[in-house]
Amino acid sequence: MNFQHIKALKELISSQKTIAIIPHKNPDGDAIGSTLALWHYLQNKGHKATVVAPNDSPKFLKWMPGAEKILNFEKDNSASKTCLEEAEVIFTLDFNHLGRVGQMTEYLEKSTAVFVMVDHHQQPADYARIMYSDVNMSSTCEMVYELISYLDDLDAITPEMANCIYTGIMTDTGSFKFKATTSNTHRVVADLMDKGAENTAIHHRIYDTNSPSRLHLLGCALNNMVILQEYRTAYITLSQEELDRFNYQKGDTEGFVNYGLTLEGICFAVIFIENKEEGILKISFRSVGDFSVNDFARAHFQGGGHTNAAGGKSDMNITDTINYFTSLLPTYKKELTA
Ligand code: 5GP
Ligand code: MN
Repeated sequence: MNFQHIKALKELISSQKTIAIIPHKNPDGDAIGSTLALWHYLQNKGHKATVVAPNDSPKFLKWMPGAEKILNFEKDNSASKTCLEEAEVIFTLDFNHLGRVGQMTEYLEKSTAVFVMVDHHQQPADYARIMYSDVNMSSTCEMVYELISYLDDLDAITPEMANCIYTGIMTDTGSFKFKATTSNTHRVVADLMDKGAENTAIHHRIYDTNSPSRLHLLGCALNNMVILQEYRTAYITLSQEELDRFNYQKGDTEGFVNYGLTLEGICFAVIFIENKEEGILKISFRSVGDFSVNDFARAHFQGGGHTNAAGGKSDMNITDTINYFTSLLPTYKKELTA
């Protein structure tokens, strides 16, 4: 974050403001962790702050301190709209173009608030007056910690905030193992533990909440996995019928895509998940090494993200999507097998 933007942010929040804090649609641990941490911080500083999420969060994030105060644009529609209309400042966290907030996009586009972006995804759009974008950061949560550090205010981190920030770093780094995990990440995490983050309990609340039906759905997904050794690629499909059969709950497919990468020799893993209600397939892409799933998702599946983790969607049915996907692979054979 450059000096000018730090100065502008300090000035902006030096007097009491009405603030909306926005995570992306289908929020993950980093989106909810970062928005709630910032929410606690700004509330404690005397601002009137509200987190407005485009839709609901998965159950395994509901324990987070402040989660019960989040407005859900789908469910609390009129309160959410009022909040967006009244906001003098809008923080957008863990995403970097306004298309990532579903039905909320048009309300953000017409807002006259001062926009502040805090995000670590590639190719940020140009909508924020104050921008803190760093694609080398492990997570938006780590950036929220750094932001508070730039404001010379690390002592203001409460145990609640430490728990929120820890959660997002943990989930976005695959429990501190992905490439973006740096020595700084570990220093931040160490400080968060000193400030009250309950590391073991957080891990338990996020990862040890399986229902029998989720494990059965995982079994179905693994059974459906197709391995294309020639392209060092593995993909999974889950149809709406399969999701229904295993009583799919929001968040149940989190992490499934990573299993492909645990196969020896596989460097590109994909999961295609049918959503009949929205008439799309939601797609997650993961890679190890230099193959950029961000570029792949942008070029072919209306998405984006990071080099090794990205998302996108398809408007075609499963069969046509898979045919299209596999037809693309020969073009990438060199990169995939380098
Ligand atoms: P996931 O596959 O877990 O949904 O997302 C992986 C990464 O890609 C996350 O950082 C997420 O924010 C990003 N991402 C997921 N879906 C999309 C999308 O449709 N568009 C863009 N630009 N990024 C996405
Ligand atoms: Mn993130």
